[in-house]
Amino acid sequence: MLEDTLIAEAQRISGRIVTLRRAIHAEPELGLHTPKTRDKVRAALAHLPLDWREGPSTTGMVATLKGRAGNGRAVLLRGDMDALAMPEETGLDFASTVPGAMHACGHDAHTAMLAGAAELLCAQADQLRGEVRFMFQPGEEGYHGARFMIDDGLIGGGAHGALPDAAFALHVMPNAPHGLIAGRTGPLLAAADQLDIVIEGRGGHASMPHQTLDPVPIAAEIVLAIQTMVTRRFDAHDPVIVTITKMDAGTAHNVIPDRVELRGTMRTLSRANRAALADAVRLLAAGIAGAHGLAAEVTITEGFPVTICDERAVDFAERVGREMFGDQAFLRMADPIMGAEDFAYVLEQVPGAMFFLGVSHEGEDWAHCCGIHSTRMMLDESVMPRGAAFLAGLATRFLDRGFA
Ligand SMILES: [Zn+2]
Ligand SMILES: [Zn+2]
Repeated sequence: MLEDTLIAEAQRISGRIVTLRRAIHAEPELGLHTPKTRDKVRAALAHLPLDWREGPSTTGMVATLKGRAGNGRAVLLRGDMDALAMPEETGLDFASTVPGAMHACGHDAHTAMLAGAAELLCAQADQLRGEVRFMFQPGEEGYHGARFMIDDGLIGGGAHGALPDAAFALHVMPNAPHGLIAGRTGPLLAAADQLDIVIEGRGGHASMPHQTLDPVPIAAEIVLAIQTMVTRRFDAHDPVIVTITKMDAGTAHNVIPDRVELRGTMRTLSRANRAALADAVRLLAAGIAGAHGLAAEVTITEGFPVTICDERAVDFAERVGREMFGDQAFLRMADPIMGAEDFAYVLEQVPGAMFFLGVSHEGEDWAHCCGIHSTRMMLDESVMPRGAAFLAGLATRFLDRGFA
């Protein structure tokens, strides 16, 4: 079967996958513009029969492979390219050479695995009907890169031609068993919105609070009331998390400040809860402040939406994963993760799914490995050929039979 060829071929090109990953790792780039990373990908895939589309909002690109066996479905595979603003402390030979930037979320591996999948699929182009779109995306870490690329028409849609019929992505997990592919139907990752609350009072002498409008106890009341509100207003089976991470007020022991600023994050797993939570937080902050004669201003900055995986796509990928790598290789996750991911924007438009790929070293105590976003995050590169082969297998099988 074609998928067996993909596994063997992925092993054969593993050196090139690792080389690309290390080159990207050593020169991490942040945000929507990752030109060096783009150039490395273009150079690595320059010999392949791909049709490239780029810009204008980001350095993202979509490379299209047209199968030579005729027209058919279109499938999109995505890898993200950006790093994080943080120092690296892995001590690796190919560690970051850019101070204050690190590929701590494994996007270097995602890009290299996607490039590997492109090589594998180009070699099979004679047997493919339809097309594969390889989406190399910057700006995942809070920059909405996927949304910009969609708005630029790079994945199709509207005046830009048909959207793909399915979309898939992988995310590495260092603290998950070596080689395990994991996913779930429905919400996989949360919506993450930023919350800012400013409580305006009137400051004065700390010994004469009655002559002031002290915002500090009001802020404390709001912080606690949010937690009560979450447990009383939202179904425990559709989780909501609000965490206040910053409280900023005052300058001295004996001065009541004019204002308090609160900052935090709001996580939800359904569109309905996301909207209801925003309303509830606004009502609560304004109500508590108002009850004490003060005002509270709530600003909610929308982050990524909920990442929702299509049932057919997950069932399909589970079959492909088990057939390719054995029954034990695929895990159905019981619960979502409350992190967020901007592939959610693609999954709002196209039925598909994202999967986690365990990249701890074989036999390692994976539960205690440094996770993503750690300065010491490392991954076992020997899993990357599996990731490339799985992406390629999803594409060949989908072009052949759809989700069936
Ligand atoms: Zn990340
Ligand atoms: Zn990530």
